[in-house]
Amino acid sequence: MITAVYPGSFDPATYGHLDIIRRASVSFDRIIVGVLNNSAKSPLFSVEERVNILKEATRDLDNVTIVSFNGLSVNFAREHHAQVIVRGLRAVTDFEYELQMAQTNRVLAPDVDTVFLTTRLEYAYVSSTIMKEVAKFGGDLKSFAPKEIADALVEKIKRDKC
Ligand code: ADP
Repeated sequence: MITAVYPGSFDPATYGHLDIIRRASVSFDRIIVGVLNNSAKSPLFSVEERVNILKEATRDLDNVTIVSFNGLSVNFAREHHAQVIVRGLRAVTDFEYELQMAQTNRVLAPDVDTVFLTTRLEYAYVSSTIMKEVAKFGGDLKSFAPKEIADALVEKIKRDKC
């Protein structure tokens, strides 16, 4: 049985993230999505909110579990007896950072492998950061995330402005 972890900020989740989770859930027996609880990144959504958003968006996937975590991805992987860390790749710009992270993780935990899934072309431009920018200026979010996530984002931005 191969368990994979998929760590990230997911602030909030996008179609890009959801596509990686769905595809990984076909390739591996069990996927544990790890929502990083890192206040240094000052996320817009709390870790509980980010976990709940992902739980709701993946509720039809039986082998996917969503949890929060702190610290190193390799420790998170080991805690869950995962053999694999899944990461998504959109462009060359992702690749440089992701390769360095994967190499660092190999040094820290030679028994855990990083597997990259390349983005589907239609989601290559999608990122949480860009989606938040579009939301701030009232743009249409339908190509970034499902309606429930887009609505939660609009609501959050409205509240932050008050
Ligand atoms: P992090 O802060 O760890 O980069 P993110 O939430 O931004 O967290 O992303 C988590 C993972 O999902 C990363 O591997 C990132 O490259 C990948 N990812 C994000 N958006 C997409 C997308 N549109 N297509 C494919 N992978 C993506």
